[in-house]
Amino acid sequence: MRGAPLRRALRWLATCLLASTCPLAFAEPRLPMPAAAAACSLLVPRLPSVSYATCAAARLEESGAFSRNGVPLYWRDVTREAPGSAAQADPLRVLVIGAIHGDELTAGALALRWITLAGKTPRAVHWRFVPVANPDGLLAKKPQRTNAHGVDLNRNFRTPGWDHDAPLHWQRRAHKDPRRWPGPSSLSEPETRFLNSQIESFKPQLVVSIHAPYGLLDFDGPMAPPRQLGALRLEQVGVFPGSLGYFGGLKKGLPVVTIELPNALRMPKEGEQRDMWADLLRWMDAHLLTDVREAHEKPEPGKLSVH
Ligand SMILES: [Zn+2]
Repeated sequence: MRGAPLRRALRWLATCLLASTCPLAFAEPRLPMPAAAAACSLLVPRLPSVSYATCAAARLEESGAFSRNGVPLYWRDVTREAPGSAAQADPLRVLVIGAIHGDELTAGALALRWITLAGKTPRAVHWRFVPVANPDGLLAKKPQRTNAHGVDLNRNFRTPGWDHDAPLHWQRRAHKDPRRWPGPSSLSEPETRFLNSQIESFKPQLVVSIHAPYGLLDFDGPMAPPRQLGALRLEQVGVFPGSLGYFGGLKKGLPVVTIELPNALRMPKEGEQRDMWADLLRWMDAHLLTDVREAHEKPEPGKLSVH
């Protein structure tokens, strides 16, 4: 028990020295900080049930893009081939987006934790995780849905008729709720421009977008949706002007799985997190990885190729 205060003090010291605002960091110039450590020093204090070890294991990297406030938009690519399988020349590309709404803290935490699961789950998949798409909202003194410009990023994608429909929808249906302001024009924000550029250049064949707190599963796209992920049941709620589901699912013909966790502040239990992941993979296996499965004779689980 006596070690606990010391461990806490050492952790505080390490955190402080990694943060730009640390009063102890008087020595200049400071060494450049590895991106993953910088990311964790920012995000871990905000993300529920995410330890430094979990965050560090995610090995986040700077994408080169920044939020409206100049915070790096961190990402991580994960590929994990099945043992013994030939390298898949054209793996399925999946983009996982967390916390596009900055006050949905569990969305960022789950995306971060799933990075580790992706690394342990052999699949012919190239995962690209953007666990916190709206760091300004997440890191605000009081976490907020919008970015630093007051824009609801999930109403800012360039959907058909945005110029007319998005402001009208905001005025008439959202009653000018400032939390749902779609912005002055579509793609006006660096965060949405970044996500849009990922859809254009990475060309995901599936987008998984994590939200909270409505406790349901939504789907937009051209195929049979997953019926459930863990305890979350499918309940298709329609699309909004400027939303990612409308942009990806309807305009681009790209399946978009939208996960609405039941609570924005409290994480689902570990077992539930794993169940959701397993159900997602099962649905992907059935609907998106069929061709890959047929093209590869997979070895029995655990059997490694030794040549
Ligand atoms: Zn949301």
